[in-house]
Order: sequence, then structure tokens, then C-alpha cells
Amino acid sequence: MSQYPQAAFLTSAAHSQQFPADEGTEVAFAGRSNSGKSSAINAIVGRRALARTSKTPGRTRLLNFFQLQSAARIVDLPGYGFAAASAAEKATWAPMIDALARRRSLRGLFLIMDARRGVLPGDRQLLEWAADAQCPVHVLLSKCDKLSRAELQRTVATARSALGNAASLQAFSAVSGQGVEEARRLLDQWLKKTG
Ligand code: GDP
Repeated sequence: MSQYPQAAFLTSAAHSQQFPADEGTEVAFAGRSNSGKSSAINAIVGRRALARTSKTPGRTRLLNFFQLQSAARIVDLPGYGFAAASAAEKATWAPMIDALARRRSLRGLFLIMDARRGVLPGDRQLLEWAADAQCPVHVLLSKCDKLSRAELQRTVATARSALGNAASLQAFSAVSGQGVEEARRLLDQWLKKTG
């Protein structure tokens, strides 16, 4: 069952002038390419193919906004971690991300990390960005179905000490459904949070 039956793609932005109006509430999703970000968005929002839009040609390097209900949005940030991003792309990225950080509607950031890989340099940059923006961060250690229970316990403990106070975290799997409810509750809570 979809939590947000009216969820729909709203717009893509190549620069901040194309962002939707800064009203209501907004939650961002970020992660390295292939971290499982699209699968996580689809599982949490309860719409199987919602974030597939972000993967269509021409949209992978853009910020993609989805309306979940009136005045409540999520924004899907481009996957990072590919060395191939050109200097020009990086140059347009930074101001766009900074503009996002300044939005009054931004309530939180889900940072998706493959549980088998842990915290990587690109993730650190996002954490710094969120700290500057005073934006709370919740890490989803994704694809946790691929780890044994013992491995998962170790991974969670390692990630916890690596992240310290920078973020809360949980294990997550779009495949087994582990952690989906917990993440959904936080998304709802953030989207309901008034200024
Ligand atoms: P994105 O590039 O970060 O948006 O990642 P995707 O959601 O497209 O997932 C990347 C790959 O990981 C795909 O092959 C998915 O099928 C796989 N994947 C995503 N989530 C899970 C998960 O929870 N468990 C497992 N085993 N595979 C997953």
C-alpha cells in the first residue's frame, strides 16, 4: 500500500532557479551511484517505480523533485562517486546543493550507504554539507539482506562510531523490507515538521 497515493514526479532542476517554490516541507535523499537510493525511495514511499524517473536519460545528473502530497516533497539528489563527473558538472553541482541547503522547507536528509561499503569520502562531503545547513541526517545502511546477522551487527557498530553525532542510522533493505517502516516513520515525521 502506498503511503502517498498521490505521489508524482514534480520537476527536474539543473540549477536552483528551476527549484519548486520554497514552501511546505521537503526531505532530501542522497547516496553514491548504485547505493540503492532509488530502491529505498520507492520502498519508503510505497510506490514501486517512483524514483525510476530520476534514472531516465537526461535526468541522472539533475535534482529530481517529487510531490508526495500537497506542500510535502522529496528531492532525489544525483548519485555521486563516479570519477567521471566533469569539472563543469561539479561546478554546477555545488551552487545547486548550496541553494538546496538554504531552503526553508528542507527538513532532513536520508543518506543511503551500501552496508557492505560503509562510509566513503563522497558521503563525508554530504555530511559536512548537512552539518553546515543544520539539516538532520539519517543514514540507511542499505542492502542489509546481503549480510549475515553478525556482519550486520559489526557494520552498524562501525558505522555508528564513524558517524558519531553527525547522523542517526539504521539497517535497511528494499528487498527484505527490513527497516522500511522505521524509515517511513521518520520521513512522515520530518514532512510534518513545521518551520
Ligand atoms: P541507485 O543507483 O543508488 O539508485 O541504486 P538502485 O536502487 O538502482 O540499486 C542498485 C542495485 O542494487 C540494483 O541492482 C538493485 O537491484 C540493488 N539493490 C537495491 N536495493 C537493494 C536491497 O535492498 N537488497 C539487495 N540485495 N539489492 C538491492
